[in-house]
Amino acid sequence: MTLKSKTAVVTGSTSGIGLAIARALAKEGASIVLNGFGPADEIEKTRAGLESEFGVKAIHSPADMSKPEEIADMIRLAEETFGGVDILVNNAGIQFVSPIEDFPIEKWDQIIAINLSSAFHAIRAAVPGMKARKWGRIINTASAHSLVASPFKAAYVAAKHGVVGLTKTVSLELATHGVTVNCISPGYVWTPLVEKQIPDTMKARGLTKEQVINDVLLEAQPTKQFVTADQVAAAAVFLCSDAASQITGANLSMDGGWTAK
Ligand code: NAD
Repeated sequence: MTLKSKTAVVTGSTSGIGLAIARALAKEGASIVLNGFGPADEIEKTRAGLESEFGVKAIHSPADMSKPEEIADMIRLAEETFGGVDILVNNAGIQFVSPIEDFPIEKWDQIIAINLSSAFHAIRAAVPGMKARKWGRIINTASAHSLVASPFKAAYVAAKHGVVGLTKTVSLELATHGVTVNCISPGYVWTPLVEKQIPDTMKARGLTKEQVINDVLLEAQPTKQFVTADQVAAAAVFLCSDAASQITGANLSMDGGWTAK
């Protein structure tokens, strides 16, 4: 497969799963719009690395996924630079772990904005171009937490369940336009997002770091292994292929059997 004539916007792609997806799409020849936070020199190294390693064009949009106008600007920048957005990967996300009664209101608002509403804003802005070109792939990084809950993750679980509803709805609206809309729902992937929640989970559940890794994280996954970011990226590449053109409105689990239980 080649994505040589395509442009992909991958939100939250300066780290973790998003970065792996951006690299995998670049490997297939897609022009890339990176997005996300981080030190400017590291982001520039990532951007330039995509160009030199895969021979594609790559730009970085610093748009904050909690700000609707910046999201619209990111899609506009992609369209002006590359002539359109063919692949949109809504991946940016954050986590916060706390008992519900202490859950900070601003954390709830921030997680709903970044993990759910940003996908709405980006899809809304990118769809007219996809419809006009009669081709598009929208992939939302959901989570096993789009299907099942864990305690102390009220905002995250609510947002991820919401992403599935958004995915299904938009898939129906775009079904006759050559645009597919799907979720990938990984179980635990060892990225900074998972690493950062370990101290709070230790506190919320009164456990050691090893206990959190083995008795909370890997306990959820029957395979007892973390999913890798590259595995999620390979699924995203597949969803962009012609072979996947009849997969739409789906929520593809990659969770070592977690949600089969
Ligand atoms: P990560 O922390 O490694 O990366 C998150 C990315 O989002 C970074 O590039 C960061 O800069 C960016 N980001 C954060 N806030 C942003 C904002 N306001 N605007 C723009 N960019 C922002 O995390 P990850 O584990 O790679 O997570 C990526 C996605 O995968 C998230 O949606 C997460 O919920 C989902 N996910 C992760 C796991 C896991 O175990 N790591 C499992 C299931 C789903």
